[in-house]
Amino acid sequence: MPIFQAPPGHGVKPPVDPDTLIHRDLVGGDFWRKIPAYREIDEATFLDHRWQSKNSITRPDKLLNAVRELASPEFIADAEAGFHRAPMSVRVSPYILALIDWSSPYQDPLRRQFVPLASRLFPDHPKLDLDSLHEQADSPTPGLTHRYPDKALFLTLDTCPVYCRYCTRSYAVGVDTDEVHKVSLKAKPDRWDNIFKYIESRPELEDIVISGGDAYNLRAEQLKIIGERLLAIPHLRRMRFASKGPAVMPQKILTDDAWFGALAEMVEAGRKVHKDVALHTHFNHANEITAITQRAMNRLMEAGIHVRNQSVLLRGVNDSVAAMGLLIKRMSYVNVHGYYVYQHDLVKGVEDLRTTVGSTLELEKQVRGMTAGYNSPLFIVDAPGGGGKRDVHSFEHYNPVTGVSVYRSPNVDPGAFYCYFDPIDLLPNEGQQRWSDPAEHDAIVDEALAAAKARQR
Ligand SMILES: *Cc1c(COP(=O)(O)O)cnc(C)c1O
Ligand code: SF4
Repeated sequence: MPIFQAPPGHGVKPPVDPDTLIHRDLVGGDFWRKIPAYREIDEATFLDHRWQSKNSITRPDKLLNAVRELASPEFIADAEAGFHRAPMSVRVSPYILALIDWSSPYQDPLRRQFVPLASRLFPDHPKLDLDSLHEQADSPTPGLTHRYPDKALFLTLDTCPVYCRYCTRSYAVGVDTDEVHKVSLKAKPDRWDNIFKYIESRPELEDIVISGGDAYNLRAEQLKIIGERLLAIPHLRRMRFASKGPAVMPQKILTDDAWFGALAEMVEAGRKVHKDVALHTHFNHANEITAITQRAMNRLMEAGIHVRNQSVLLRGVNDSVAAMGLLIKRMSYVNVHGYYVYQHDLVKGVEDLRTTVGSTLELEKQVRGMTAGYNSPLFIVDAPGGGGKRDVHSFEHYNPVTGVSVYRSPNVDPGAFYCYFDPIDLLPNEGQQRWSDPAEHDAIVDEALAAAKARQR
């Protein structure tokens, strides 16, 4: 006798109302025309990547002027003050600008990513520092981070097609701001040459992440120089070009034939020598995926280019089950594999965007199983202090009252313990009280570390 005998018909799923399959409803048509400045822009122009780049907005006053008729004066003043105090450079593509719902900009998930508001600026966490991931400390030569045994991160240049408020590399990416004087990582052949030589000298390296900044901003011939040189290194087996581009300017994939051709050529060259070359991108919200995105992803698929996605968990953007579920389903629908969702790093000036480890545990539980396992991302914490990526569930200790979680990372440093800190404004009262007293800070960390170490015995 089977132990679980379901009554006949039990477990048969009733059909789903097709109207609820909203992940397939991609925004199409000429949606950009609702922005006054784009009212006369036809489709061919809006799809032209040169037009998108040339019209990307790099000054707060210009950005706000473009939407002044659409948003309230209070919002505009709030954003003006917000930009004034933000550590990140400003750059927003027309594509993103047109996808923001300016009639409700406080709630809009894309606005939250690119336009800071003074009214939402919370104090930074006391344990925050600018290069919280210690990418510079683990760097044998400028722009290469070699932390894990067989893989390394290559920062090819320091510019991006847009600048995200929450950027983890605000120590280097973008131009200097009032708040931060940046480390220089230019697209320079002699800097790259030192990186190639280091990689050649390390037979254990099999995998290179080609990032930045952003691989979208490499010229086609630069992308080929890097790809060909790396493919020629016998011990390298895998590489990924990392770009936010598909999420913020999918037009480039459709109309920059030189860049697309260079990428396709590198993927093809890799395939011929049995090396995996892929594109990694960074969608954070389902609203970033439109009919234009789908055409771009179709073009990549036709060229046999695999696309994987790394999202950052952002409060009010994708931290609800509905938003994260929709994102994952919609990415699957356009053939983008959800790879990682990162707990937000400790970054200056964006406490309003961070969430707690506790909420991530629940979110992960709710979304796993919504779609194919290979499209369901792993939720991770990039452990501050250079611990690297850890499954969010794998902490040695977590205190939801003080918001301290402690991780180990044996492949990086077998003896080390790494702490992540939840944003203070989301802690229960008792935790907020303790952090408000600077004399308590060391005790909070020490007790978390002691609890983690006690578990090791
Ligand atoms: C993320 C990262 C990698 C790649 O890690 P995967 O888990 O394979 O995606 C490599 N080096 C550094 C320093 C990184 O931060
Ligand atoms: S695209 Fe990536 S590297 Fe560039 S600003 Fe955004 S998060 Fe930072």
